[in-house]
Amino acid sequence: MEEKAYQIILEAGEKGLLQSDLWRKLGVNSREGSRIAMKLEKRGVVRRMRELYKGRWTYRLFANAKDEVEIKWNTLGGCPCFTCTQISRCGAGQIISPNHCWKLTEYINQCAKENLHR
Ligand code: SF4
Repeated sequence: MEEKAYQIILEAGEKGLLQSDLWRKLGVNSREGSRIAMKLEKRGVVRRMRELYKGRWTYRLFANAKDEVEIKWNTLGGCPCFTCTQISRCGAGQIISPNHCWKLTEYINQCAKENLHR
């Protein structure tokens, strides 16, 4: 869903896309749409600019430069969080947490090993 959202934002080009238009194109509700937009922003693949539209504050979404995005996706490729079914419930201080996740720990250890052998 996030990759599909990113493609839609990318296709919007320089003019960007209102967050509400993204929700409609994805067929999701505003809560889910906001969550997706925030996750993409957190990953650094899109940026959100606050905008007053028809008297209401919203966000316009812009895709970051393609080469910059490819670096970020590649850098994080293989991270178990991207395909994890628990991601919406996972967070520091929660019962499900990155602080004691064996999948994430294994992934980080593997990355560290690979870096040692470069
Ligand atoms: S830290 Fe572990 S539980 Fe949390 S989203 Fe990543 S893989 Fe899933």
